[in-house]
Amino acid sequence: MNSEKTYRAYLVSKDAAGDAHAAIVQRPWSELPRGDVVIRVSFSSVNFKDALSATGSPGVTRSYPHVPGIDAAGFVVSCTDETYRPGDPVLVTGYELGANHDGGYAELIRVPAEWVVPLPAGLSLKESMILGTAGLTAGLALQALRRSNVKPEQGEVVVTGASGGVGCLAVALLARDGYNVVASTGKARAHAFLRELGAVRIIDRAALDDRSGRPLLKGRWAGAVDTVGGNTLATLLAETQPHGSVAACGLVGGSDLSTTVFPFILRGVNLLGVDSAFCPRQERIAIWDLLATSWKIEGLEELAQTCGLNDLQQITSAILDCENLGRTLVIPTG
Ligand code: NDP
Repeated sequence: MNSEKTYRAYLVSKDAAGDAHAAIVQRPWSELPRGDVVIRVSFSSVNFKDALSATGSPGVTRSYPHVPGIDAAGFVVSCTDETYRPGDPVLVTGYELGANHDGGYAELIRVPAEWVVPLPAGLSLKESMILGTAGLTAGLALQALRRSNVKPEQGEVVVTGASGGVGCLAVALLARDGYNVVASTGKARAHAFLRELGAVRIIDRAALDDRSGRPLLKGRWAGAVDTVGGNTLATLLAETQPHGSVAACGLVGGSDLSTTVFPFILRGVNLLGVDSAFCPRQERIAIWDLLATSWKIEGLEELAQTCGLNDLQQITSAILDCENLGRTLVIPTG
C-alpha cells in the first residue's frame, strides 16, 4: 500500500488545445516544488494575477499543470536550517509564488527561505491575507507618495480601480493617513463601500479617460494611485498638479502608455513605479510592520469575503469580468 502523505491543491492543467481546466486534487508531498521551508497554508487570497494564472495566461504562468495563489500565510512545518522553527507563523507574497512556482491554493507550499516573512506582531494570519499582495502594493504606493512629498494639505489624491483589491486598500490606507481620497470606480454598487473606507468623493472611471489629445489638463490631483494603466494613467499624468506624483501599480485597463513629456518637464510631475513581487526584503518587511502597526486598517474583516478551493473558478471568472468588490480570502482546507 502507498502510504505517502498527500495534500489538497487547486491544480490548473492545459489540454491539447491550450484551454485551461482546474481540478481539486490530492498530490503527494514529493510533488511539492523545491525549497527550504514547508508551510501549512491557513489562508491565501485572490488577486487579478491569480485570475490570469488560473485561466492559463502565459504572461503569468509559463508552464502547466500549476497551482496558482500568489499569497499564502500559515505555520512552518519544516525548514532545512535554523531560520524558522515548526509552528512559526509566516507569510509569503509575490516572488514566483503562484506564478511559476506552485502557490497558495493548496494545503501546503514549499518555498525558498528568503521569500518567507515572519508574521508581524499586530496582524493575525487572516488579516495578513486580507491584505496580501494587494495590501503590500497599496502600502508601497502610499510610501512612494509620502517619499515624493505628497502631503494631505496639497489637495486630493485619486485612486483608480478603487473597488478592486489594491484599490480598496489604497483608499483605506490613504484615508487613515489623512489624505482627501477620491475613489474612481466603474461600479455604482461600490459607492457606499468606498465611502465607508474613507473616500471623500467618488468619480466614475470614465472621467479619467480623456480623449482630447491635450498634453496638459487642469491640474486636479496632488497625487494618484493607479491600478488601471493605459489611457487612465495618461489622463492622470496630464491632470496632476505641479510637483505632484502618480504611483503606477497596474494594467487592468491596458499596458500601453501614450503620453508626452509635458507633465514631467513643465509641471515636474513624478511617475513612481510600484513592484510588490520582487520588492527588496528590507522594504517588504518595513511595509508589513507598518501595515501591522501605525498603518493598521481597522475593521479589515469587513473588506473581505471568504471562499474555499471549490469556489475559486467562479471567483476568478468574476475578477476577469470586473464584478469583484474588495478582497477575497481563500481557506485551502475549506
Ligand atoms: P482587482 O481585479 O481586484 O481590481 C481591479 C479593479 O480595476 C476592478 O475591480 C475595477 O474597479 C477596475 N477595472 C477592471 N477592469 C477595468 C478596465 N477595463 N478599465 C478600468 N478599470 C477597470 O485587481 P487587483 O487589485 O488584484 O490588481 C489591480 C491591478 O494591479 C492589476 O493590473 C494587477 O496586475 C496590478 N497589481 C500590481 C502589483 C504590483 O506590484 N505592481 C501588485 C498587485 C496588483 P472599479 O470597478 O472600481 O473601477
